Amino acid sequence: MECAGKGRGTRCLGPPTRLCTRCGAVAYCSVSHQFSHRKEHKEECERFEQQMKRVDAVNHFPFAFSRELLRKQESRCSFLTKAGVHRLGMWAHECPCGPSSPSLRSINDGWDLPQDLCPCRGPVSSISKGLTGWVDYYEWRCIPLSSPVALLLHWPLTLYRAIQIACTESLNSETCNKLRIHYLGPEKELLQLAAFAELQALFPDKQVHLELIGPAIPESRDGEIINLQTYAHCQDIDCFCGFSSESAVSGKSASVTIQLHRGLYHDRFRDLVEVYFLPHLSHWTDALL
Ligand SMILES: [Zn+2]
Ligand SMILES: [Zn+2]
Ligand SMILES: [Zn+2]
Ligand SMILES: [Zn+2]
Ligand SMILES: [Zn+2]
Repeated sequence: MECAGKGRGTRCLGPPTRLCTRCGAVAYCSVSHQFSHRKEHKEECERFEQQMKRVDAVNHFPFAFSRELLRKQESRCSFLTKAGVHRLGMWAHECPCGPSSPSLRSINDGWDLPQDLCPCRGPVSSISKGLTGWVDYYEWRCIPLSSPVALLLHWPLTLYRAIQIACTESLNSETCNKLRIHYLGPEKELLQLAAFAELQALFPDKQVHLELIGPAIPESRDGEIINLQTYAHCQDIDCFCGFSSESAVSGKSASVTIQLHRGLYHDRFRDLVEVYFLPHLSHWTDALL
C-alpha cells in the first residue's frame, strides 16, 4: 500500500503505517500527509467504509466455507486425492503441494472430473429463490455431495450471496439486465477463473461483468478482457459440454466477462468510474440499469 497523501509537495516520512481509522482502506506515512489528504478523502472514505462493512457481511456467509463437505480430520491433500484431482489444473492451488509461484492460468481449464460430479453444463431447472447453502446448491445442480467442486465454487457463490445482500431491489427490477461487480484483491481466484462461468447459471438473465482489481494481477495482463462463453468443462470427451462451440456457433456473446486491473482499488477505481461513467461506486457490487 502506498501513502495516500504521496506526491503533494512534501516527501513521505516513511512507510504508510497509519490507517484511516474510519474506513481502514487507505494508509498514510504521517499525520501531516493524512491531514493534507483529508478533504479529498472525505467522500471516498464514506464509500470505503460501506464497502468494508459489506465485506464483513460476506465473510460470514455459509458459501465462504466448505467445511460441511470436508470430512473432519481429513487433510486437503487426502480429500483432493480421493476426488482424483490432487495437484491437477484449477485444483493445484487448493492444497500446500501446489506450485509456489503461480502464474495466471488460461480459462480453458476444466474441472478434471467426470460429468456427473461437476456443473459443466447449464442447470436443468431454473434457480430457486435463494440458495442458502451448499446442500441447496448441489441439489439444484444435481451433483452428489461427495463432489469437491465447492472448493472452487465458493468464489462465484460468495459473489452470488453478496449481490443478494447488496442489491435485492435493483435485481428484482426487470430493467436491470447488467451486473457489474468489483472484485477486490483476487489471488488464488486468478488461477481458477473458469469457475466464474458458473455465474451464468446463478444469474441466468443477466450480463455479468466482473472487474478483478488487485496487485496480484500481472502487469502484462492489466486491462485484459476475458470472455467466459461456456461452463468449465468436465473430463468426459463424449459429454455435451465438450462441444464448446455451441455458443460460438449461435453467435451468442458471452454472458460472463472478466476484466483484469492491476493495482489497488484505491488507485484504480477512478479509472473504472471514468470508463463506465458511473455516478457512484457506493456499492461493493453495482447493478447497472
Ligand atoms: Zn486518496
Ligand atoms: Zn506520505
Ligand atoms: Zn477513510
Ligand atoms: Zn496436496
Ligand atoms: Zn461435461
